[in-house]
Amino acid sequence: MAELNFDTRKIRAGYDPLDNNLAVSPPIYQTTSYDFKNTEHAQNLFTYKEAGYLYTRVGNPTVTYFSERVKALDGAKNAVAVGSGMAAITYTLLNLASKGGTILASPYLYGGTIDAFDRLFPELGIKIKLTDAVLDPEKLEKELTDDVKAVYVESISNPNAYILDIDKISEVAHKHGVPVVVDNTLATPYLYRPLEHGADIVVYSATKALTGHGNIIAGVILDNGDMSLYTKERYPQFFEPIVMLKGKSTADIFPDNFFIFRATLVYLNLLGAALSPQDAYLGIIGLETLSERVAKQTKNAEAIVKYLESSPAVEWVRHPSAKDYKFKEVADRDLANGGGGVLAFGIKGTSEQEAEFLNNIKLFHYHVNLGDARSLIVDSPNTTHSELNDDEFKLADIPSNLIRISAGLEDAQDLIDDLEQAFKAAGLI
Ligand SMILES: *Cc1c(COP(=O)(O)O)cnc(C)c1O
Repeated sequence: MAELNFDTRKIRAGYDPLDNNLAVSPPIYQTTSYDFKNTEHAQNLFTYKEAGYLYTRVGNPTVTYFSERVKALDGAKNAVAVGSGMAAITYTLLNLASKGGTILASPYLYGGTIDAFDRLFPELGIKIKLTDAVLDPEKLEKELTDDVKAVYVESISNPNAYILDIDKISEVAHKHGVPVVVDNTLATPYLYRPLEHGADIVVYSATKALTGHGNIIAGVILDNGDMSLYTKERYPQFFEPIVMLKGKSTADIFPDNFFIFRATLVYLNLLGAALSPQDAYLGIIGLETLSERVAKQTKNAEAIVKYLESSPAVEWVRHPSAKDYKFKEVADRDLANGGGGVLAFGIKGTSEQEAEFLNNIKLFHYHVNLGDARSLIVDSPNTTHSELNDDEFKLADIPSNLIRISAGLEDAQDLIDDLEQAFKAAGLI
């Protein structure tokens, strides 16, 4: 359905009622496994001669409808849905760096990702280099040595709403044979489609604005179908015989889709963070309103930014619509639908006043999610990003007075009134 426009694809792509007794809403395939018709059918499925479902940990029709729909929205070629955003990120990077090597990563990242980079990957023999050279692709070029297996960035970063020039980063990375992986969670395909800007792989926490109701944990991995970057020299894992494949390699079996095939066969299959069919169904329902939700969240965020910029309780505001936004040029070029619902601001006053402010908030939820239909507020340095060390805070440009807001779908004036009364209660205005 790639020829249809975005808003039609978000309702229709990846599912055909003709496959399901003409059911208009995709059925939830609440099943663990699938019967083999006979021994030949079983053998064909196990040797990938025939496509089909075996076991829900590695494939389920409802889960496929969900991943196919996200794939269509991003203009990707291959997709797999997994049980969380963290699973999407770790399976992707393990798949690229299974033989060791270095991942060059942006420092402007989700706290859990930084945590995995500090604690999980080094234990597995994978080096992580956080580098602010992602802001300057010419500098980045010098860091693209032979042992680099991926460049990893967020398109719109959490919590600062930094945006990177992914066209330029991709150009430089490709010159050195390295794929670019983009966590597009904050942007969603409604605001930004990384594959159209040269990226090779997109990962999502579908928990957030992509599905938008704060009721599932889910992740998606997508790629652009160009396998030519994965050379035998740098990525031998795709070309080695695998016992499960009876001596064939993943590249032998699916020459156009061995990246996601190996991520599924090795990591989803063996580490096992599968998405449940129930959650995939809720994800599909969420996708149906993606544009409407993210457009309203963006509008609400813009109204809140305007208010905060005029408030004496506020030191600075970061959002693509903010007056002194650092990345205005890239935002104007790349974000035609606006900068999304997430913004950060620096609160004036003491840490006691900051606590007083948060404790007096009535309408915003105070917790660690984002992209929800409900507005959320959180003191990121003490919560979502509390695992960062001092150097990482500095590199990530997260000041200790940072407050993150994820605007939801409420009335903007009610949200602004809530902030105003809480600033007052804290003695800040
Ligand atoms: C939440 C989040 C993740 C992790 O996703 P989960 O679904 O919670 O595992 C990854 N990246 C970003 C940018 C996020 O906001």
